[in-house]
Amino acid sequence: MMKEGRPRVLTRPQEIQAAVKAYRADGLTTGVVPTMGALHEGHISLVKAANAACDITIATIFVNPAQFAPTEDLATYPRTLTTDLEMLASNDVDLVFVPANAEMYPDGFSTYVEPPAVAKRWEGESRPGFFRGVATVVLKLFHLIPTDMAFFGQKDFQQALVIRRMVEDLNVPIEIRTQPTVREADGLAMSSRNRYLSQPEREQSLALSRGLAMARSMAEGGERSGKAMVDGVRRVLTEAGIHAIDYVAVADPETLEPVAEVTGPVVVLIAARVGTTRLIDNAVVGPAVS
Ligand code: AMP
Repeated sequence: MMKEGRPRVLTRPQEIQAAVKAYRADGLTTGVVPTMGALHEGHISLVKAANAACDITIATIFVNPAQFAPTEDLATYPRTLTTDLEMLASNDVDLVFVPANAEMYPDGFSTYVEPPAVAKRWEGESRPGFFRGVATVVLKLFHLIPTDMAFFGQKDFQQALVIRRMVEDLNVPIEIRTQPTVREADGLAMSSRNRYLSQPEREQSLALSRGLAMARSMAEGGERSGKAMVDGVRRVLTEAGIHAIDYVAVADPETLEPVAEVTGPVVVLIAARVGTTRLIDNAVVGPAVS
């Protein structure tokens, strides 16, 4: 269908809900891409997937305070609204929802989603309260934007699983689609936080994707030991001078429980700090099929 040149930007919950209901009453399908802004090609790949699958594409930009711990980077999280809106405009987004904190969390707000079991480990342990904040804001967005589909990135592997499980467990009538991680040419997974990296840190950070490549070749080369793969990835990180490793995991891609013996696909999850910047990356790897 023909799209206008500029997205409509809405800030009020009532406005976005009415706009989305109107699209659906007109028989149009909608896809939503939730983001925290500071957009890059990873986010745009989700927009493109929504454009391809739905009549109407909606993006949300909201730096969700509920998912940041007091020690984390809420205050300094990059905010680039003008360029974000330009990027969304040139990628055929119809509607952008940019709520204020006070609209999402008015005085007296006190109801939170208890996240599913897949939220327990890894990010759940490293960032207490993180998935509670994510699940709460995503469920709020799903109520404000009663969309057909919602698009998430595999970059945040555990987050996508948490949302899938939440939607299943709580009977949310929205189809969740997960899109592959978009990387820089040298392998670094795109992230809004990459802009914090100095040039030497930017080079160091390549150890994350190198570690994943190493895990892939180990698995494809017949390595069966999850622990050996974890050790291999840790070695790649430490040899690059990355010592602040939150976790390296070889886990079941559905349950995220650690895998001792690799007999099928596993997800390799990494979280580490490069300088003061916390980076995450992951890949699904497995024995080569002959
Ligand atoms: P964020 O703005 O970081 O909260 O991310 C918003 C959405 O974009 C989430 O579903 C992320 O998983 C997704 N995303 C972030 N980085 C990438 C990437 N490099 N490739 C694909 N999706 C991404």
